[in-house]
Amino acid sequence: MEPLQESIDKAESAFQEKDFNSALKYLLEALDISPENNIAHDLTMNILYLGMSSSSPCPISKGLLNDPILDPFFAECSNCQRFWAVNPFFEKAASLTVLNPVGGTCVQCNKVLCRNCIKSINGIITCPDCGKRVSPLKTPNGRTRKVNIQSSKNKPCAVLLFKSPTSPPCNEKLFSDGSRSIMS
Ligand SMILES: [Zn+2]
Ligand SMILES: [Zn+2]
Repeated sequence: MEPLQESIDKAESAFQEKDFNSALKYLLEALDISPENNIAHDLTMNILYLGMSSSSPCPISKGLLNDPILDPFFAECSNCQRFWAVNPFFEKAASLTVLNPVGGTCVQCNKVLCRNCIKSINGIITCPDCGKRVSPLKTPNGRTRKVNIQSSKNKPCAVLLFKSPTSPPCNEKLFSDGSRSIMS
């Protein structure tokens, strides 16, 4: 079997067993061979979304999340550089109403903002810069790693986690290495 197909097959069976870390490892191999592969792309989106949820049966290891191959799969806040996995079902949704979204994009200035950086006025989430409505993000804007580049090694890399809506502010969870994750 060709290596690409073999990696995808292994990823799919690991995914069935809810072993997201192994599945992602095989997907990284597949994406390394063929970054444009649709099957690998869709499965990676699903695994990142499910694995980074606070209710994930199998949280994804930070080492894997840090892989640069995954940069295009994340949304990143233009304000604080936290990143998160976009719900893969949003892209095909005709219309979306999301309560307490993990982040969104401003309809006016197109800035991508995380939950910590958007303002909620009378239940409507708005852009802190231009005051216009923030709508759910349908596709990732990509992770730029500004945080990692600008900072020393000790500076935390921020990861957004999410679960069903709760009242703000979000709970921030500290990993043992000092990186932060936000649970919605
Ligand atoms: Zn932010
Ligand atoms: Zn704006």
